[in-house]
Amino acid sequence: MPLQDLLVAPAPVDAVALLDRLDHPVWIFDIDRSRVHWANREAVAMWQASSLQALCARDMAQGMSVAVSRRLRQYQADFQQSAARFGEQWTLYPGGVPVTMWVDFSGWPLADGRMAMLCSARRTGAEATPPDSLRSVDALLHTEVMTTLYSRAGRALYRNPTSRASVAPGADRLGTRLTDREDLRDLVTALQARGEAKLITRVRTAGGDRWHDLSARMCRDPATGRRALLVTEIDVSGLKQAQAQAQYLADHDQLTGLPNRNQVLKTFAQALRACRLRGDEAALVFIDLDHFKRVNDSLGHAVGDELLVQLARRLNDARRPGECVARLGGDEFLLMLPLRDVVATAMARADELVALIAQPVVLPQTELRVTPSIGISLFPQDGEDLDTLMRHADLAMYGAKAAGRGTAMRFRPEMTAAAQSRLALEVELRRALAQGQIGVHYQPRVEVASGRIVGAEALVRWRHPERGMIPPDVFISVCEDCGLIGELGAMVLEKACAQQVAWAAAGRVLTVSVNLSPRQFFAADLVAEIRDILTRTGCSPAAIELEITESVLLGHDDRTVTALEALGQMGLRIAIDDFGTGYSNLAYLHRYPVDTLKIDRSFIRALSERPAITEMIVTMCRMLGVTMVAEGVELAEQLDWLRGHAVHEYQGWLFGPAVAPEEFERRWMAAPAAVQ
Ligand code: C2E
Ligand code: MG
Ligand code: MG
Repeated sequence: MPLQDLLVAPAPVDAVALLDRLDHPVWIFDIDRSRVHWANREAVAMWQASSLQALCARDMAQGMSVAVSRRLRQYQADFQQSAARFGEQWTLYPGGVPVTMWVDFSGWPLADGRMAMLCSARRTGAEATPPDSLRSVDALLHTEVMTTLYSRAGRALYRNPTSRASVAPGADRLGTRLTDREDLRDLVTALQARGEAKLITRVRTAGGDRWHDLSARMCRDPATGRRALLVTEIDVSGLKQAQAQAQYLADHDQLTGLPNRNQVLKTFAQALRACRLRGDEAALVFIDLDHFKRVNDSLGHAVGDELLVQLARRLNDARRPGECVARLGGDEFLLMLPLRDVVATAMARADELVALIAQPVVLPQTELRVTPSIGISLFPQDGEDLDTLMRHADLAMYGAKAAGRGTAMRFRPEMTAAAQSRLALEVELRRALAQGQIGVHYQPRVEVASGRIVGAEALVRWRHPERGMIPPDVFISVCEDCGLIGELGAMVLEKACAQQVAWAAAGRVLTVSVNLSPRQFFAADLVAEIRDILTRTGCSPAAIELEITESVLLGHDDRTVTALEALGQMGLRIAIDDFGTGYSNLAYLHRYPVDTLKIDRSFIRALSERPAITEMIVTMCRMLGVTMVAEGVELAEQLDWLRGHAVHEYQGWLFGPAVAPEEFERRWMAAPAAVQ
């Protein structure tokens, strides 16, 4: 009969006297207080205590290792859950001397309801056991490594305490412990082939599913001599989690949570392979938001970020089965759409995406509307591999931008050639700027009433060593796209200011007008740079007129307004160039410091057939009190009309084209009296 049953049964004999007669130690250990609660005589002697009271007063926590106290807590929890009983070989240290015993222990509820531990020990004759054997047993008891000996059928024959603590209810056998059937199969196969196996796998444990680094080795059960399996496990869930986290961060965009470029190369390539295997078709969609930089510049990066997050969510939510969405960086997104009959369906889907993005985005501070430029390449028609398809979709996106933005365009083979020549132009432009191939020509600005030259417009020219003179329409937009416009603009302004000063010194005071690209307003230091140039050249600000286009004023960008006001305050004149070709919203002329309005040459050309609009512009300019300049005057009748309507000034081939400064002087300054 087990000892415990003897104690709880109604004792017909004096139980304490009986226990004191036993020749092996029996004691009850209070785990919570780390004290012996009660002990028989043999136990008092074994612990080398002078009396039971002295033993019970001893603080057993002294010198107890963390591993042992943790294990005792685990046993206490086990006892509370079930009527568990264990036997282990323990080495105790009464008076510092090791005593090795086999200890059977089980739960012992105390009167106050707490769970203690009943221990019943038998000496194992440590003297006969070699020290290394004692050490190995002790190490097995203390180690964090879960060690289990399984029968060949996968039944646990022995578990060390850490292994025992990890067993989930109903998952005691190896087959039920491993959650991944495939891993289990691999394990068995490897054991059969090599007698050992190693893998990191998911394991069902008392603390839920965990990742374990598991090693298994075929051996024999020393108790029976039968074939057995020794399995050791280490919990690597923390490591696995950290790895997964690192992988996630490497593969996903921090802001939107969408897969990033890194991930695209893997997932999209995979999706493409799947398409190829199934003989399916697909479209690769490259999305770039129009003028996103302006949102960032005018409303701040926080608003820009929020806009991207909302659009990313919109794209992700609109995904259909099998479609992939990623953020490539900045304001660029990439989609892969498996489509049937891709040539017929891709454009319709792309138009849907344009409409989806163009819907207003409601932010706490404001409501915004951005349009996308979308480029599409089709698999397999426009490319067989991801790299080619991405390049082609990118080129098509540039095509959409060139076609006016807010639209989708499919890749066409001629786009490659166009892109190459554009790239070549960019390279050549950089060289041209460095080698002084960029010059400035001047076109006279003439007072209508007197026929006097009152000013000159500075117009940039590229003297290409092989191709001759290249007009600005060809290279200004390239400069704007590749960021060279700031450098180019500053160079033209500096030359124009120096020219104005030189002519003034020679007795001809002319107002020189200089064109500014809207892109130059994106630069934070535009005003400071202009001030520097004026100072360096000694040019009076009042002698320079800056020509801007209407689009600059329509941006509602605080920075543009501030820059314009600062330039106006410096004494520079501001002109609206090509008036009438943009939004022609006269309201802004009130709001901004505008001095001059240049009527676009398309209105001058149309004067003979449709003079009404020009008449209206002239009337409004007069009411607003701004200087009017007619552009592109080629015919005497046009000049007559301007004279009849009291337009202030004109430019045009009728008087003269833009020419190099020396030519300008030769033609119009040699005999000043004649033209004045
Ligand atoms: P814009 O500022 O409107 O300049 C007037 C354009 O009309 C010039 O073309 C000029 O040569 C041309 N033109 C002058 N009179 C006549 C005429 O009677 N008939 C016709 N058909 N054309 C005439 P250009 O020099 O080719 O410049 C084209 C545009 O390039 C300019 O238009 C301006 O927007 C831009 N541009 C020129 N230089 C610069 C510059 O230094 N910076 C910037 N940002 N843009 C510039
Ligand atoms: Mg101009
Ligand atoms: Mg113009």
